[in-house]
Amino acid sequence: MSLARTLVLKTSGLAPVKSLVRKSFFFRPLVKRFIAGDTLEEALKASEPLLAKGMKLSLDYLGENTASEQEALEAKATYIQMLERIAQVPAVIKWNSEHSLSPTLNESGDGIEPLNISIKLTQCGLDQGEDFTERNLRDVLETARKYHNFVRVDMEASEYTARTMDMIEKVRKDYKNTATVLQTYLYRTPEDVERVISWGARVRLVKGAYLEPASVAYPEKSKVDEAYESCAKRLLDAGTYPAFATQDEVIIKTITDYATQHGIDKSKFEFQMLYGIRRDLQDGLLAQGYNVRIYVPFGDAWYPYFTRRLAERPANTLFIIKSLLKG
Ligand SMILES: Cc1cc2nc3c(=O)[nH]c(=O)nc-3n(C[C@H](O)[C@H](O)[C@H](O)COP(=O)(O)OP(=O)(O)OC[C@H]3O[C@@H](n4cnc5c(N)ncnc54)[C@H](O)[C@@H]3O)c2cc1C
Repeated sequence: MSLARTLVLKTSGLAPVKSLVRKSFFFRPLVKRFIAGDTLEEALKASEPLLAKGMKLSLDYLGENTASEQEALEAKATYIQMLERIAQVPAVIKWNSEHSLSPTLNESGDGIEPLNISIKLTQCGLDQGEDFTERNLRDVLETARKYHNFVRVDMEASEYTARTMDMIEKVRKDYKNTATVLQTYLYRTPEDVERVISWGARVRLVKGAYLEPASVAYPEKSKVDEAYESCAKRLLDAGTYPAFATQDEVIIKTITDYATQHGIDKSKFEFQMLYGIRRDLQDGLLAQGYNVRIYVPFGDAWYPYFTRRLAERPANTLFIIKSLLKG
């Protein structure tokens, strides 16, 4: 992991830094670039042009690590409201009318939903208790099933990985319209890739965004990238509609080349990218006929998400420092 990335992730947790970033006017342009709005309606407004272009989307209600059961219940209510509201979006109504909807629709690569949601188990109450979280997750999945939609469970810091995998395995016995995310910085991931392949689950593959110790994750970026390519190839060969979430052009080329060489149709997988990052790359892949899904975050609890994005690219932090100096 680069020094700049470690530094940003470490200092962003300090109270004075938090306060400065939250209140300072200078951060606004960058926050606006990465976050689609404070409310669901604002996020849906920002989604319209992307849907019109033919992008698929995943809406993310920002927030993590609830401090009480009440907070987790409120987050669950928001997730449910998102699914209900998504069902009224004209592009979704049109898509639903063009597809024969069945409970197994979201298990295969055919006719993948245009607008789903991404959620976090710590926002569903994982720090409050596993049974409590499972009940909340099941309520969300039941609503998603009603609307023929899919719920992606984001992967968080490594202390939650095993519990997230176990919970997804458990609920998938009743709800196939969910799956999680695997992070290639973790040493354990190749085994988890085999596990999700055996479930037939639609996994999202990422490099990993949290500050992790060398005891669980590769410190070297080259190893993370290497692991990404090898897991991606395995998922292309044996996975179920995998999602490759990365803005790394070299890796994207490896994936498209591999798919072409092995006769894997473009409809059998998707690329995912973050709202506001590398729009040129998003548009380019879409123009070439690939499925592209944009992760669209919204809400006022944007701070942890925002600092992870800063850490990924030193230039983002430099931009802020320059703005502060100018001011
Ligand atoms: C759709 C989606 C969902 C994700 N879900 C999760 C999750 O559930 N759990 C998790 O741990 N992580 C998640 N991530 C984050 C992921 O782990 C990486 O931290 C992030 O994608 C950056 O890595 P990269 O693959 O783009 O490669 P990198 O090597 O970090 O970046 C490659 C290139 O992409 C561009 N780029 C990358 N990040 C930025 C940025 N912030 N600002 C500007 N340019 C940038 C730059 O041009 C850079 O050179 C998700 C990422 C995406 C795209």
